[in-house]
Amino acid sequence: MGNQPLIVLSEDSQRTSGKDAQSMNITAGKAVAEAVRTTLGPKGMDKMLVDDAGSVVVTNDGVTILDEMDIEHPAANMIVEVAQTQEDEVGDGTTTAVVIAGELLSKAEDLLDQDIHATILAQGYRQAAEHAKELLEENAIDVDADDDDTLEHVAATAMTGKGAESAKDTLAALVVQAVQSVADEEGVDTDNVKVETVVGGSIDESELVEGVIIDKSRVHDNMPHFKEDADIALLDTAIEVPETELDTEVNVTDPDQLQEFIDQEEQQLQEMVDAIADAGADVVFCQKGIDDMAQHYLAQEGILAVRRAKSSDIEALARATGGRVVSSIEDITAEDLGYAGSVTEKDLAGDEKIFVEDVEDAKAVTLILRGGTEHVVDEVERAIEDALGVVSATLEDGKVLPGGGSPETLLSLGLRDYADSVGGREQLAIEAFADAIDVIPRTLAENAGLDPIDSLVELRSEHDSGNSTVGLNAYTGEVSDMSEEAVEPLRVKTQAVESATEAAVMILRIDDVIAAGDLKGGQGDDDDEEPGAGGPGGGMGGGMGGMGGGMGGMGGMGGAM
Ligand code: ADP
Ligand code: MG
Repeated sequence: MGNQPLIVLSEDSQRTSGKDAQSMNITAGKAVAEAVRTTLGPKGMDKMLVDDAGSVVVTNDGVTILDEMDIEHPAANMIVEVAQTQEDEVGDGTTTAVVIAGELLSKAEDLLDQDIHATILAQGYRQAAEHAKELLEENAIDVDADDDDTLEHVAATAMTGKGAESAKDTLAALVVQAVQSVADEEGVDTDNVKVETVVGGSIDESELVEGVIIDKSRVHDNMPHFKEDADIALLDTAIEVPETELDTEVNVTDPDQLQEFIDQEEQQLQEMVDAIADAGADVVFCQKGIDDMAQHYLAQEGILAVRRAKSSDIEALARATGGRVVSSIEDITAEDLGYAGSVTEKDLAGDEKIFVEDVEDAKAVTLILRGGTEHVVDEVERAIEDALGVVSATLEDGKVLPGGGSPETLLSLGLRDYADSVGGREQLAIEAFADAIDVIPRTLAENAGLDPIDSLVELRSEHDSGNSTVGLNAYTGEVSDMSEEAVEPLRVKTQAVESATEAAVMILRIDDVIAAGDLKGGQGDDDDEEPGAGGPGGGMGGGMGGMGGGMGGMGGMGGAM
């Protein structure tokens, strides 16, 4: 009787607990880090990702790789989230964050094997991360908002090793100009930098349009293509005769009455166009529709009009031209109008677009990126997104760190000292953290074809003698002062340490994985099997196996290159 098992879970559910759960999750987390490791640094390799439909992405960008990989394992996904957080918070350093998280798990595994409790580990890791952030802040270098050289340097560093490498100086200058244009008292919103990609031409021919490009053409062929010194009306209402609220029926008994009715509608449209013209508008951007007749009247007035503009475009135009968005046409006045030195319909890569340029204070700008092929432009765009992120972060925080594994070496040494001062079992965890951080310089060296041990030893001895800006230059293979070679915003490093630690700690504290019965290997999407068809064997375990296989393939690919 006492031996009757008590069943609390449904028959189909899967449960893994204790050491098994821990090691399963650690393995999954490490596999994710391993998948992106070979892409780290300027000499990192690229990955080619092919989806079900056969479309191909070639990239070096950590978060893109992980997103495209479509990872399903729950613990592995926690590591993917590290990359996503990093992308949202800074826009760069995604590979770094993931690689650190993987290494934290790997070092934790050793300690767990020595029977150090996961809670002690978690505690030690948290303490180490706190101290690491302090160390990074103490060693950060101040940057002024108008220090273009350093800002361009930051942008260029984010683009090293990416598709944009060949033109990184040109692009870095454009990125800095773009970010400075949109920066205001509240900081930088990179959404105000629109990126347009064009296949054709070379990367060098990329340009910055200080203004907005609207992906639309003018509504009527008789409208002008070009307006100089343009006063611009922004409407979020239609230039149409409003339909009556009620279902009305108009009974006409003779043709004159019908004509009168039509005339009356035309009259109303004419009045709307008159209101716009009287306010002095040369150009109209309308978020809604424009009646055919109204188009004709606008064309007669020589006004260039665009209909069904996106609301985000209208907002960007309001920012860039200083115009006010008008909701009721009859009330429009000259004060509502924005201004641009030129509004032109131009061809961009085969599509007609409206360029609104020469605005006084461009608070919204557009970067036109060119590149030889679709894949090249896409990868350049990702590099630019990273660069926009780091320049914004630098402008906002005013602090940078030298790159090339310099801050990581500083941390690993500083944390070992700190560990001695803490003592107890946490000391072991803090030392493990210090060892884990070394993975960055080690991987940079490996990916550059250098001996990682030699590089690490050299880095440490330089830092021991007080040269805290010394890092590994992946181009020359030398260990030297990196503050003139590669600079990254402080936030890239603090955020990477923070999110990597949080994810690792969260994974380590799990000692029980309970999966509901119908969670078929985590691959529950678009499958049409019967519920429960996977059975116990096809539950969590099946999914894990599948993922392990996929990752193995990835790792092999990187290694073979
Ligand atoms: P992430 O996704 O983490 O940004 P990257 O592939 O962009 O990954 O690599 C970033 C790493 O490359 C950083 O640690 C940075 O310091 C390092 N790095 C950048 N330029 C150089 C360089 N010239 N030599 C060595 N390391 C560099
Ligand atoms: Mg980067």
